[in-house]
Amino acid sequence: MTAALHRAPADLGQLVESATCWSATASPEEILAWAADNFAPRMAVSCSFGNPEGLVLIDMLHRVAPGRFRVYTLDTGRLPQATYDLIDRVRDRYDVAVEVVFPDAVAVQAMVREHGMNLFYESLEKRQLCCRLRKVEPNRRYLAELDAHVTGLRKQQNVTRAGVAKLELEQKGRLVKVNPLVEWTSANVWDYARKNGVPLNRLHAEGFPTVGCAPCTRAVRPGEDQRAGRWWWEQADTKECGMHTQAEEGGSGI
Ligand code: SF4
Repeated sequence: MTAALHRAPADLGQLVESATCWSATASPEEILAWAADNFAPRMAVSCSFGNPEGLVLIDMLHRVAPGRFRVYTLDTGRLPQATYDLIDRVRDRYDVAVEVVFPDAVAVQAMVREHGMNLFYESLEKRQLCCRLRKVEPNRRYLAELDAHVTGLRKQQNVTRAGVAKLELEQKGRLVKVNPLVEWTSANVWDYARKNGVPLNRLHAEGFPTVGCAPCTRAVRPGEDQRAGRWWWEQADTKECGMHTQAEEGGSGI
């Protein structure tokens, strides 16, 4: 992790305010170049290695800001082997040291001791507890070292993401969230990935539009919504791990 100082929240706020109008019509590549110019090396792309979006962003950054971006991912301990294989492919392809962030082992041990290995199927509260310990808290810890993070959020992904903007401030103004693909459709993302030979998770070819933790992801049946395979036992309005919804509470958010 770099020892460079954080930019002051007032600075970050001014930057976002001055770029908001411009960003409305800027391409994803232009937004990424702007982000690298303003935030590197205290900027990282969040990539789950289970959606094409994060990988498309890595490919774009490799073109517009080579050597000036970081990539991080959360290893929950429950990911499928295909995702681990893809992390290593991306390391080789883009010559980037993927920063793998792990949960607090003591907290996970205590959770499993109390609730068992598969608590997430038992209730929404237990599923959110698992996501919090394995994803939200490690993410919060990692983001505390950054000034900006780049995500592949798109408005069309879920009802919970309809209001996402290209540039956002979170954690009480201490962190800029850059969402270059908010206006893109799924077709835009897949077209870019195919045209540019972006390495993708091999489970997509087996019916998984997105790949998360193995016990919480299944293949989608023809005609089903793209997110139907994630936490399929829950309603659409609860299908978030919590990383994107805590910003307004001063918490984390990828
Ligand atoms: Fe736990 Fe499932 Fe959330 Fe992964 S997606 S952290 S296994 S509840």
